[in-house]
Amino acid sequence: MIFKCNNCGEIKELQKSTMVLRNNKWVIKEALCTCGNTTYMEQVLTPEYKGLPKIKLNDSGQKL
Ligand SMILES: [Zn+2]
Repeated sequence: MIFKCNNCGEIKELQKSTMVLRNNKWVIKEALCTCGNTTYMEQVLTPEYKGLPKIKLNDSGQKL
């Protein structure tokens, strides 16, 4: 599972995920980012992130 921080843009791959309740919000315990006090990464569901996370292409194949 690939997780991305919406705050600093860090991408991390996690082998396991534990759902925990933090401040009335369900987050992945292992996805806590180092950039903030309680910044949790969100799971990236797009298959484009598998393998080459640094190359970003949109639907028309254009480089962003
Ligand atoms: Zn971050």
